[in-house]
Amino acid sequence: MSHFSPLSTLPPDALLGLMVAYRTDERTEKFDLGVGVYKDEAGETPILSAVRKAEARMIAAQATKVYEGPRGNTDFCAHIERFVFGKDHPALVEGRVLSFTAPGGCGALFLGTGLMRRMGTRRVWVSKPTWPNHPNVVKSLGLEVKDYAYARDGGFYRLGALADLSAAEPGDGVILQGPCHNPTGIDPSTDDWRELGRICREKSLIALLDVAYHGFAAGLEEDMAGIRAFMEEAGEALIAYSCSKNFGLYRERTGAFLALGKTAEGIAAATTHVADMGRATWSMPPAHGAGIVATILGDAELRAEWEAELTSMRERMIGLRTSLSDALVTKTGSNALGALKTQNGMFSQLPLSVEDTVRLREADGVYMPASGRINIAGLHPRDIPRLSEILARYLV
Ligand code: PLP
Repeated sequence: MSHFSPLSTLPPDALLGLMVAYRTDERTEKFDLGVGVYKDEAGETPILSAVRKAEARMIAAQATKVYEGPRGNTDFCAHIERFVFGKDHPALVEGRVLSFTAPGGCGALFLGTGLMRRMGTRRVWVSKPTWPNHPNVVKSLGLEVKDYAYARDGGFYRLGALADLSAAEPGDGVILQGPCHNPTGIDPSTDDWRELGRICREKSLIALLDVAYHGFAAGLEEDMAGIRAFMEEAGEALIAYSCSKNFGLYRERTGAFLALGKTAEGIAAATTHVADMGRATWSMPPAHGAGIVATILGDAELRAEWEAELTSMRERMIGLRTSLSDALVTKTGSNALGALKTQNGMFSQLPLSVEDTVRLREADGVYMPASGRINIAGLHPRDIPRLSEILARYLV
């Protein structure tokens, strides 16, 4: 009898399996729409030029590798606070905000969900559909997952979402993504965000806002309008911020956990709990990626260079979305796929059955997960005519 015999083997990660299958596919015509990272026109995920420069500067100036402390890089934290709340938010000077460096957006989601649990939450609502790691994190902390309606006819399903959330109990948690919802690309309007904030306040629901694509939808300021409207209405919120995509820092595990409270006392108490959770898991947050981001955002020239690089990533995705959407509308003869153009960020979800996604892969070399999620950034403009011809056969 081995210590390990009580363990049954878990199913393999479907997305990783898809990546391997794509790589070993020997057909000359194949399309990888399954990847979860940004790709440029050459199909690469390059290190941003502002990141390279900031990294070199930081390493040259670095005198020690000693721990930074439980909050990690405090300059980084201050920059992300200003991103999330806006630089003039009164809570910043009233002690009603906390911020911690975290190992990526996922580390921040873990802190947010763990804090909910310490505040008494027993179940957490996630959008249907959502990024599969949301239910993973919630379940790993022993909490129950519930879902709320999210998408309908290519847009946000406000009535459905509000109806489902009105069935939530006071103290329940709600994970809301913004901007650039994964996997649908569908974002609530600023008005919708206000309504979501209102219901969270009225029902006393604890919101965790997952910001993983800041700058990928319309711009750095524009992309925060929704969550800021939400926070204005709700009064309190937890926020998980990821720098993986907008700074291209994936493997450096760079993110921040933040919270906005109604009282400085509440935030002071929450700070001790967040520090306690960090201490019991990674002990101290990683420094490298946060140092790079702080260097970029603290230097006017590097910041301008990063903003220009972010703009070009965003514009490339918007261009590809428009072309794919127009091509699908023409090829299917229906306006249904016109909604792709109104969606944001890297992902959209095509209305395909699981069987269709398997047939697309086996018969046509088009790789995407069973959910029908496609990564727009995985496309090259030259792929669009042929790809839309293939997809249209399944979409009519
Ligand atoms: N939240 C969403 C919705 C995501 O799509 C991602 C990354 O794919 C993350 C959070 C966090 O990613 P990371 O932990 O790599 O920063």
